[in-house]
Amino acid sequence: MEPQRSPLSEVKGNIELKTPLVTGSSRLPLPGSRLKRGPEQMENALEPEKKRIRGLGPSTKIVSSRPRAAPLSTVSQTQGQVTAQKVAKKVGARSSTSVATVLKNQKPAPAVPSQKPGTSAAPPVVGGKKPGKRPAWDLKGQLCDMSAELKRSRERTQTLSQENQQLQDQLREAQQQAKALGTERRTLEEELARVRTQAEQGQRELGSLSSRVLELEERLGTQEGLVQELQKEQLELQEERRGLATRLEEQERRLEASEAALSSSQAEVASLRQEAAAQAALLAERGDRLHGLEMERRRLHNQLQELKGNIRVFCRVRPVLPGEPTPPPGFLSFPSGPGGPSDLPTRLSLSRSDDRRGTLSGAPAPTTRHDFSFDRVFPPASGQDEVFEEISMLVQSALDGYPVCIFAYGQTGSGKTFTMEGGPGGDPQLEGLIPRALRHLFSVAQELSGQGWTYSFVASYVEIYNETVRDLLATGTRKGQAGECEIRRAGPGSEELTVTNARYVSVSCEKEVEALLHLAHQNRAVARTAQNERSSRSHSVFQLQILGEHPSRGLQCGAPLSLVDLAGSERLDPSLAFGPGERERLRETQAINSSLSTLGLVIMALSNKESHVPYRNSKLTYLLQNSLGGSAKMLMFVNISPLEENASESLNSLRFASKVNQCVIGTAQANKK
Ligand code: ADP
Ligand code: MG
Repeated sequence: MEPQRSPLSEVKGNIELKTPLVTGSSRLPLPGSRLKRGPEQMENALEPEKKRIRGLGPSTKIVSSRPRAAPLSTVSQTQGQVTAQKVAKKVGARSSTSVATVLKNQKPAPAVPSQKPGTSAAPPVVGGKKPGKRPAWDLKGQLCDMSAELKRSRERTQTLSQENQQLQDQLREAQQQAKALGTERRTLEEELARVRTQAEQGQRELGSLSSRVLELEERLGTQEGLVQELQKEQLELQEERRGLATRLEEQERRLEASEAALSSSQAEVASLRQEAAAQAALLAERGDRLHGLEMERRRLHNQLQELKGNIRVFCRVRPVLPGEPTPPPGFLSFPSGPGGPSDLPTRLSLSRSDDRRGTLSGAPAPTTRHDFSFDRVFPPASGQDEVFEEISMLVQSALDGYPVCIFAYGQTGSGKTFTMEGGPGGDPQLEGLIPRALRHLFSVAQELSGQGWTYSFVASYVEIYNETVRDLLATGTRKGQAGECEIRRAGPGSEELTVTNARYVSVSCEKEVEALLHLAHQNRAVARTAQNERSSRSHSVFQLQILGEHPSRGLQCGAPLSLVDLAGSERLDPSLAFGPGERERLRETQAINSSLSTLGLVIMALSNKESHVPYRNSKLTYLLQNSLGGSAKMLMFVNISPLEENASESLNSLRFASKVNQCVIGTAQANKK
């Protein structure tokens, strides 16, 4: 069986490990703990007493042979005394046998046998052995022996009595000791019980305290962790706070600066607002004034154009081309005006010898001088820019809402196409009226957009050949096809005319215009035949529909600008033989002549304010009727060849142009809506 651990030792252990709960009072002698053990152990505990008793005398046998004492724990004090007395009696009763036993085992003290005289000598004793038996007859000797024996027994008895007395004393002492021990034991047991109770209580307390301590330690650990976390957090927060404080300071500085800037800006804004309001008022006033001025300018411009004449004729003489014969001196002259050479030339004289009169008289043929006066005359050296400068004012009128029509009239090779479209090679210096007029229109429209005007331009380009209309801007499958185009009114009751199947292309920049002119040139080349350059035999009509709007003032103005390169005005030489080709040419010529004379008649009718204007007599006048009416401005270039061989045709052209020049179309009206 596992030895039970003493609660006291547990307490002691706990006390040593933990807190010193038990004081000196609990420091009991160790044997106390053994008292709890059974009788065996109790006897062992008493062992030293036994030994002490044994040590009192030489007769160890007496103690060892005694019956075992009853366990002290179960023997009362009185019982103990009775037992001790019994033991003493027993010892007394048995003393004789016990003494005999002792005497038997005891070695006899060395005795010197007394040799009585007269007696036979006793058998010699060898080595302590009993002296040999006296013979039966030796009664004296035997008596002597017996008396000696008796004496010794008496001495022995005495000794034993003394010993017994000693043993009894010892027993009493032992009993007293046992009694004292019993008392001590009880005291100890009581103390033990008390200590046990205390220990148990202490243990309970200790247990609860330990669990409390554990709990507290756990809580402490948790709290410490929490504290560490909080400290860490605190550090972080402090750091953050410092950063925020710095930022706050910076923001505050910025805010202050911003506030200062804001207040100054607000003051500035207030003054600027006032200024802006003043400016706006001024601007509005200026806008009104500008608009008034623009309208005034338009009115004055128109008046000027009217003063210059709504029908104007410019004469342009082309230079002699390389390889052409130099005309005789004085064939064409450009007399100065009344203001001298500083005046812009307006006069032209053509002098030619009258061959027939010279032949008749035999004298050198006299020269006849034909003087013409036009609105402007351009000698051969005049450049394209110079020519355009003069008509730019007219183009301006188209923007202002007055229909404008510019013709180039003259025989083939006199420079009509050169004037209208320009010279070969795309040289900007040689650019004709059409590209220049459009560039001018785009730039003026751009300027006027600042005053609230928006302009749009739509271009068309057709040719009229033998009274058929063909689209020069046709592309794809329609290219080169003639006769499909018809001139119609744009809508029922509409004044506006449109050419069916013809392209109307919106243009807004020079590049687009260039592309259109290039396309028209290509389309004309397709129709060119070996016998006849058709372009000379047809009228080309470039028309630009201009639409101007002033949304804020609810104004609109629009007018067509027409630039017409007329067919060659030369007549057919009647002396030429009439072949099949010539017949065709005659038909062409008749068509051309008819349309040109119709143009003249229309101008005349307009000039004379006749009720009937024969527009319908030719496709050309029909198409141009809106550009020729009372409100329109017309300019005719009469192109003249410088060559003497063309003198007759030149004279014809000059005469036609003079007739036109004499026409004055009634006061033009702007197409204002
Ligand atoms: P048209 O169209 O009247 O038949 P063109 O315009 O084709 O005549 O001119 C005939 C030739 O004369 C062309 O080679 C052209 O380049 C040239 N020409 C016409 N006018 C001028 C001029 N003012 N300066 C230089 N060359 C010109
Ligand atoms: Mg031409």
